Amino acid sequence: MNVNFSAEDLEFRKEVRDYFETEFPADILDKQNNGIPLTREDIVRWHKNIYQKGWAAANWPTEYGGTGWTPTQKYIFADEQARVNAPVFLTFGVGMVGPVIYTYGSEEQKQRFLPDILEFNTWWCQGYSEPGAGSDLASLKTRADLNGDHYVVNGSKTWNTLGQYADWIFCLVRTNTDVARRQEGISFVLIDMKQPGVTVKPIVLLDGEHEVNEIFFDNVRVPVENLVGEEGKGWTYGKVLLQHERTGAANVARSKYKLRRLRVLAGESIDGGARLADDRIFMRKVAAAETELKALEYTELRTLASISSGKAPGPESSILKIAGTDLIQRIDSLYLEASGYYALPYVREQFDPDFPAEDHVGEGTETINALTYFNNRKHTIFAGSNEIQKNIIAKHVLGL
Ligand SMILES: Cc1cc2nc3c(=O)[nH]c(=O)nc-3n(C[C@H](O)[C@H](O)[C@H](O)COP(=O)(O)OP(=O)(O)OC[C@H]3O[C@@H](n4cnc5c(N)ncnc54)[C@H](O)[C@@H]3O)c2cc1C
Repeated sequence: MNVNFSAEDLEFRKEVRDYFETEFPADILDKQNNGIPLTREDIVRWHKNIYQKGWAAANWPTEYGGTGWTPTQKYIFADEQARVNAPVFLTFGVGMVGPVIYTYGSEEQKQRFLPDILEFNTWWCQGYSEPGAGSDLASLKTRADLNGDHYVVNGSKTWNTLGQYADWIFCLVRTNTDVARRQEGISFVLIDMKQPGVTVKPIVLLDGEHEVNEIFFDNVRVPVENLVGEEGKGWTYGKVLLQHERTGAANVARSKYKLRRLRVLAGESIDGGARLADDRIFMRKVAAAETELKALEYTELRTLASISSGKAPGPESSILKIAGTDLIQRIDSLYLEASGYYALPYVREQFDPDFPAEDHVGEGTETINALTYFNNRKHTIFAGSNEIQKNIIAKHVLGL
C-alpha cells in the first residue's frame, strides 16, 4: 500500500498535532509523563475531550458517529497520540461492545447505548473469562435462565479489567446447556453493574495495582431486551469482537514512541559515566527491535486497509497480536537494561507532596520501568494468550 503522505494527510497530521499540544488536557499528559496513575475522573475527562473534537471512534461507520478516517489518517492519529505519550483509548466501549451493538443489536439498542458509549457517559467492562474458562472460553458456566421477561444470571467472571469503575458489563453467558457443541447455547448480554446481586472484588497484580477484578452474579435480573442479537449466537458475536480487540493489541505507535525515547535515554550519560549509545551490543538489540517494528507497522497498515474496505479483521489479527505483544515485552526488557537500578526502587509515594525530595529516585517515567515491565506481562495473556493465537494461525492461516 502507498504510505507516502499526501498534502491532505500532512495537513491532517498538523491538525492532530495541534490538538494534542493545545487542546488535550495538559495535566493528564503531565501525569502520563511522570508515571502518575490516572484517576477514573481523569480517564473520563480525556475521553470526553476527544469526543468533543469528534474523534472518539476511528473505526465506527460515520452513521453512528465514526470519524470516516482513511487507514492513513488512523495511522497518523495513533502516531501523534503516542508521540506525546497521550494515554491509549479504553477499548471496552468504543472498541468492543460498540461494534457488536451496531452490527448485531436492535435499533432500540443502537439508540439507547451507542451515543453514551461514544461520549463516554457510560464505562463498559468485559465479562468473558471465568475461573476455569479462559483459553477454553466455551466451557464458561455463568448461566442466564429465562424467567418471563427477564434472564436470571448466576455465576462469576474473572480477570475483569477496571470493572471497579464500570457502569455496564457485556457478558457471554450460557442460556442453553442442551446443545451439541459447547459453542452453541452461549448468548451475549448487557448487564447493568449498579443493581442488586452484582459484586466486584479486587485482584491486585504483580505491580501492586488494582487493575482487575472478580465479578459475582447472584440472581441478577437482566431484561430480555438486553440480549444482543439472537439467543445462543453469542459465540459468533464474541469472536468478531475479539478479532477487533487483537487488531489493536499490536500497539505499534506506542512501541515506536518507546523505542525513540530509548534512543534518547541511551544517549544520556548518568553521572558523567559511560553512555549506552556506545555499547554496541545494547544498540544492536535496539536496532533489531526497530527493524521488527517496521515490519509490524506494514502488517498493521495492511490490516487497517482491509478493515476500512469493509472486511472484518480475520485470523491475521492473531499475527499482529503475537508479534506486537512480544515486541512490547522485549522493549520493556531493554528499558530495564537501560535504566538499571534506577528502575527498581520506585515508590509511588514519591509523588505525594510530603515525600522528602532527597528520597526521590530518578525522574520522569524511567522510575516506573520495573512496574511497567511487570504490568506488561499481561499483553501476551489477554485478548487470547499468544499460544492460543499460534493455534489459530496454524489452523486458519496455515491450514494445518
Ligand atoms: C491483566 C489481565 C486483564 C484481563 N482482562 C480481562 C477482561 O477485562 N475481561 C475478560 O473477560 N478477561 C480478561 N482477561 C482474561 C484473559 O483473557 C485470560 O487470562 C486469557 O484468556 C487466558 O486464560 P486463563 O488465564 O484462564 O489461562 P489458561 O487458559 O488456563 O491458560 C494457561 C496457560 O496455558 C496455555 N494454554 C491454554 N490452552 C492452550 C492450548 N490449547 N494450546 C497451547 N497453550 C494453551 C495458555 O497460553 C497459558 O499460557 C485478562 C487477563 C489479564 C492477565
